Amino acid sequence: MIPVRILCILAVPALATAIAGCAHLASHPGLPAGMAATLVAVGGDSGLPARSEVTAGQLVIHADFPIAGQHRLVRELDSLRTDVSQELALPISDEPVHLYLFESTSRYDAFVARQYPTFPARRAFFVETDTTLSVFAVWQDRVAEDLRHETTHGYVHAVVPAVPLWLDEGIAEFFETPRGEQGLHRGHVAHLAGRLLEGTWRPDMDRLDAVTSPGEMSQDHYAEAWCWVHWLLRSTPERRELLQNYLLDVRRDPDTPPLSARLRHELRPSIDAAAEVKAHLSRLAAAASTER
Ligand SMILES: [Zn+2]
Repeated sequence: MIPVRILCILAVPALATAIAGCAHLASHPGLPAGMAATLVAVGGDSGLPARSEVTAGQLVIHADFPIAGQHRLVRELDSLRTDVSQELALPISDEPVHLYLFESTSRYDAFVARQYPTFPARRAFFVETDTTLSVFAVWQDRVAEDLRHETTHGYVHAVVPAVPLWLDEGIAEFFETPRGEQGLHRGHVAHLAGRLLEGTWRPDMDRLDAVTSPGEMSQDHYAEAWCWVHWLLRSTPERRELLQNYLLDVRRDPDTPPLSARLRHELRPSIDAAAEVKAHLSRLAAAASTER
């Protein structure tokens, strides 16, 4: 049985300055495995959105309001499945990913308070149980970004349930960017560039590998996780393949040694990966500054 795993809880706007990006939680202490499945089964009685339902590929979207299958965001989230699969060389799954869209913060907050009472205030989250993959979100200004992020978790977990925490988040941060950005997360570039200027950041995948609880992840962790993923996917074909092979191995064997170990042993010629990632970020920041 896969334990309940709750990921990627995005801060509500009121807390955005305190918890920028995606602050994660460990498995919910009061949430028995299978609860999400129960919630799905009882539908409207649980306060879940049930006014309309649309299926788009792997997604089953339940909303408080009428939503068209041809809505631009629905089409985009459906296309994201192919993007994730091709970018990471992962197979496509048919396992449903349920998206529950609340029309108002008050409806959403009431649901979360009732079903996940120990949660801090958040904008969206992903829950994996042994039987279901579910996303809960409020329909608000940043819903597209939130849903791209959370839906990426759904697509990845459908085929690699044991993906390491930091990598899971780095991948979701990569795919939460608008499609035309090709994974370039400008907020993280600016954040890490600031850290570099301060002299307070040195990339360290071992440190990320050591994070086991979503609650331990800070904005620095999310930004660095994204940066490693962007470097692996966007610098050389060899590095991209290394990440792809690693994910396939984790899919087959959840006890696969961490990516940091593989990076040390498999990259040829031997390189200082941390220095490379730093240089990668510096190039991205320089490119961003010339655009302004
Ligand atoms: Zn996340």
